[in-house]
Parts: sequence; C-alpha cells; structure tokens
Amino acid sequence: MKLEAGQVAVVTGAANGIGAAVAAALVQRGLRVVLADTDSEALATTATELGNRAIAVPTDVADIEQVRVLADRTLAEFGRVDLVFNNAGMGTGGPSWEIDPGDWDRVWAVNIGGVVNGIHVFTPHLISAGQGHIVNTASLAGLTVGLFGAPYAASKAALISLSESLRGELDLVAPNIGVTVVCPGPVDTRMLRGLTDLATPPEGGATESEELPPEVMAKLAPMMEAVAEMATEMITATRAAEIILDAVESGKLYETT
Ligand code: NAD
Repeated sequence: MKLEAGQVAVVTGAANGIGAAVAAALVQRGLRVVLADTDSEALATTATELGNRAIAVPTDVADIEQVRVLADRTLAEFGRVDLVFNNAGMGTGGPSWEIDPGDWDRVWAVNIGGVVNGIHVFTPHLISAGQGHIVNTASLAGLTVGLFGAPYAASKAALISLSESLRGELDLVAPNIGVTVVCPGPVDTRMLRGLTDLATPPEGGATESEELPPEVMAKLAPMMEAVAEMATEMITATRAAEIILDAVESGKLYETT
C-alpha cells in the first residue's frame, strides 16, 4: 500500500520503542495516527510529541472490548482506517518448565490474542473500504529458538503462521488488502535493553544482575551470552520503522530488520 497524507493508521504498543518510532514516521509522512498502549503515561507523552495528527487511546490489546473501543474512537475521530499495526508484545523469562502457566497465558493473550483481537475488529473495516494493510510484529525468535523465553518465541512463531493464513484468506476475498509480518532482529528498545543490561552490566554500577542469586545467573548464562552478542548488533527503532514502512509500501509478506 502506498502511504499517503490523509490516511489513518492504528498502532499498538505505540508508547515506546518500535511502535512509537513507526507512529512518528507515519506522522512525518502526513498520516493521522491512533496510538494504543497499556502504558498510559508514556502514551500521552508520545502523543504530545507527535502533535495534532496523533491521538492516544489507552488500550490493553488482550481485551477485545478495549480493542472495540479503540476502533470506535478511530472511526469517530478520523472516519477511516487504512493501516493496522499490531505491534504490542511482551515476553517472560526462565526455563520453559519453570515458567508459571499463568505467565504463559499472559504472553499468549498479548502476543497472539492481542493480534487476533486487532484482526477481528479492524479487518471488516478494511474489507468494506476495499483497501488497507495489516502489519503484525513477530520476531526472529519466532524463526529460531527461544532459549529461556519459550512462551515469547512460541507465540511469535504462531504469529508468523497466523499472518500467512490471513494473507492467504485476504488474497481470496480482498486482494487489495496487504499483510506483512515483521520479524525484527535486535532493536534498541526498552524491551531489549532490559535483557542486554542484565547480560552486559555497566562498569562499576550496581546492576540488577548482582541482585540475582548465583544459581539463577548460572542457569541464565547461555542466554546471557546470546543476548550480549545481540547487543552488538542492535539497530535503532527509527531504522526499524523505516524498514517496516518500506515493506508495507512494497507489499512484502515477510520482513526482517
Ligand atoms: P517496547 O517495550 O519498547 O514496546 C512494547 C510496547 O508494547 C510497550 O509500550 C508496552 O507498554 C506495550 N504493550 C505491552 N503489552 C501491551 C498490551 N497488552 N496492550 C497494549 N500495549 C502493550 O518494546 P519493542 O522492542 O518496541 O517491542 C515492540 C514489538 O517488537 C513487540 O511485539 C516485540 O516482541 C517485538 N520485537 C522487538 C525486538 C527488539 O529487539 N526490540 C525484536 C523482535 C521483536
């Protein structure tokens, strides 16, 4: 889909990181943007920074009723929706057998349930309009392995599959609606910093890693090595946003950053 001034985008996970960077890039291109996130404070700050072409709608994407309100607010405010960026995501850590089943559920409720809610609520509007684009943020972790983060990796693998099915279905009934699944590598955001700061503590400073018991650090050692390696390969969220929007414009199903 060609991104043009006057179009309307909904971005989830928009308060921080990749979502905030994509929202900023869209506003720069003249689109109006609806920002959705559970972090109301950061969301309000991001909306203020983006000026009068952005509105903030605090939303938990895992809650279908809140996603319905998000769509109602979008249509009431701007009267249309062209781009839906299902980007909100979260993870949890630890060996898969030790992760509490409730934590598995929450990761799936956000990373898959949140995208399902977005697709369920917004796709009919795109189909009525006969055009539009849906972008889902998966992860390279969904294509590789999720050592000590299995719920995250498994949910992102499922999201790649879900996006492929969606693309196939829309090709049959509404071929002008595009679907892109983005599998970012390491991007310098709060989510990744939380991991890399643990793996490569700043010199001299008190660190969270010092607060972890040695037996936990020993268990995490293989993951820490991989994360420290990732820290050397990070790109900025602004660069990731450029890559994602290029993928939308060129109609790519898969993109990595
Ligand atoms: P981030 O922590 O900066 O941003 C994630 C945002 O999602 C936060 O603002 C958070 O409040 C929001 N969020 C979490 N749960 C939510 C919910 N239930 N409803 C609404 N908002 C919610 O992290 P990021 O790196 O910008 O992550 C964005 C997406 O990119 C995520 O899906 C993440 O899995 C994916 N990703 C990130 C990386 C990376 O290296 N940073 C790599 C691969 C994939």
